[in-house]
Amino acid sequence: MAFQLPELPYALEALEPYISRRTLEFHYGKHHQAYVNNANKLAEGTRFEGADLETIIREADGGLYNNGAQAWNHTFYFMGFGPEGAREPQGALAEAIERDFGSFEQFKEAFNQKAATLFGSGWAWLVKDSEGRLSIVQESNAGNPMRNGLTPILTCDVWEHAYYLDYQNRRPDYLSSFWNILNWDVISERY
Ligand code: MN
Repeated sequence: MAFQLPELPYALEALEPYISRRTLEFHYGKHHQAYVNNANKLAEGTRFEGADLETIIREADGGLYNNGAQAWNHTFYFMGFGPEGAREPQGALAEAIERDFGSFEQFKEAFNQKAATLFGSGWAWLVKDSEGRLSIVQESNAGNPMRNGLTPILTCDVWEHAYYLDYQNRRPDYLSSFWNILNWDVISERY
């Protein structure tokens, strides 16, 4: 079965004023769609035809890895947002954040610092290891921490295409807005 662009569980203007409809039209409608289309084309006729994106992330290389990982990363990123839902971590994730970062505020600071200092294009990730311990990792370009056996909990896309229309070069402004639109019901479930 070919990869599909997933439907978003909210309207394109639902994240305004933090992320505009126009950004989503390009970022979801054009960039994300292109990664899905390219992954389909590149998987065709290879041993990855019919595989899931997780397998591609763990095992593929080159263009197929890049486009397959970008398709997965964008779905994970967009599904973490919502105009409704908890505005802070819930349940076991809330406890793990306090245990591993001190507090939600300290975690946000540490996450923003990693996202702000990532050079060039890439993703900041909150991940858990096999023992449930949390950490924040930077990945360049299409990088996905599942490749290293870690479980993604939350991600922030810091490619310029994620924020340029709304914030131009001001990545820190995008990063402070990011926290206003996260749906922590969805994110907490992932832990
Ligand atoms: Mn992106």
